[in-house]
Amino acid sequence: MIQVKFSPPDITEKEIQAVTEVLQSGWITTGPKTKEFEQQVAQRCHTARAACLSSATACMVMTLRIMGIGPGDEVITTAYTYTASCSVICHVGAVPVLVDTIPGSFEMDPEQVEKAITEKTKAIICVDLAGKIYSYYDRLYEIVEEKKALFKPGNERQAVLGRIMVMADGAHAFGAFKKDKMCGQIADFTCFSFHAVKNLTTAEGGAVTWSEKIGAIGSDEELYEEYMLYSLHGQSKAALEKTQAGAWEYDVIAPLYKCNMTDIQAALGLAQLKRYDKILERRWELIHRYDTAFAGKALEVFCHHEGESHSNGHLYLTRLPGKSRKECNAIIAALAEQGVITNVHYKPLPLLTAYRKMGFDIADYPNAYAQFENEITLPLYMCLTDEQQEYVIRLFSKYC
Ligand SMILES: *Cc1c(COP(=O)(O)O)cnc(C)c1O
Repeated sequence: MIQVKFSPPDITEKEIQAVTEVLQSGWITTGPKTKEFEQQVAQRCHTARAACLSSATACMVMTLRIMGIGPGDEVITTAYTYTASCSVICHVGAVPVLVDTIPGSFEMDPEQVEKAITEKTKAIICVDLAGKIYSYYDRLYEIVEEKKALFKPGNERQAVLGRIMVMADGAHAFGAFKKDKMCGQIADFTCFSFHAVKNLTTAEGGAVTWSEKIGAIGSDEELYEEYMLYSLHGQSKAALEKTQAGAWEYDVIAPLYKCNMTDIQAALGLAQLKRYDKILERRWELIHRYDTAFAGKALEVFCHHEGESHSNGHLYLTRLPGKSRKECNAIIAALAEQGVITNVHYKPLPLLTAYRKMGFDIADYPNAYAQFENEITLPLYMCLTDEQQEYVIRLFSKYC
């Protein structure tokens, strides 16, 4: 029996060395490594700036706060995602509005989004699922333009934007691209995750970038400084600057949050970034091998390269047509007994206690439910060997 984990982190001597150097440097929290990582993340995303924080969740909450979204506002997102895409709406006190997917697709239905828009809608959160850029940003931008007359700005910044804000939960999608645009340049704001299971990890961590579309609401420098303020207690002078001789003075402009990235995390991220092209190449290679092996089987697989859109190869989603969730769960258990760990992405939010208690009913999300009903996600990661993958293919093929 060969053991195959689902998504272990890929840590080499380079990462260990980079982290050790920071530990020995005398500066372990936000400092030069975080600033360097931010520059390289921005470079990779072709954006002017990036702000690195403690998680994608923190990036999303800070973004909603910076746009002044809160109680009395509505924010639309998809029923087919991880809880974080929606919990951030609750964190700022706004009301989440969930919409269904397109029939037969994992992606949020833009026409359902249009119907869900009211005069209270302040933002739409899209998910770049499995590492592929959401396919309908162009349509969404048409919709928010068409709905401009309905939009009621709650503050000056929203008034300058003059429409509903579009934010990407790009937790999966760092490095994805479509035509000449990188993930991070398309939605108004994009929030990436560097959590341990993601393509590029800092153990825990995230980054936010913003596109040229929102230039009018403030300069890149202003926005960046605002993320720093929001993520470091609202304190007007960062710890690093405070180390300058005699400069102790600081102010706090509001009782804000604490969700900065440490230099230990950033050093790990910088080491991963150096290898990231290789990581992507390997993931695409593994996807190609899965796709080839499963061609002609009674299996639907997620399309990672579609037209000019190329995912970063984050998750290998499959669906077994005609099978029930119960049958799929039995397959997951049988695979686990034979050493192979698989997963499900995702149980639609209305099936989770938290969202059911808010009044969401899975009966209103038949398309999301149908996608979930027979979904199984296969192992896909940098250090998955050819031999391990062949073993997964051999076992899984028995069931489809
Ligand atoms: C992992 C994940 C998140 C959360 O990322 P964190 O960095 O852990 O906050 C958000 N959305 C989706 C779709 C995710 O998979």
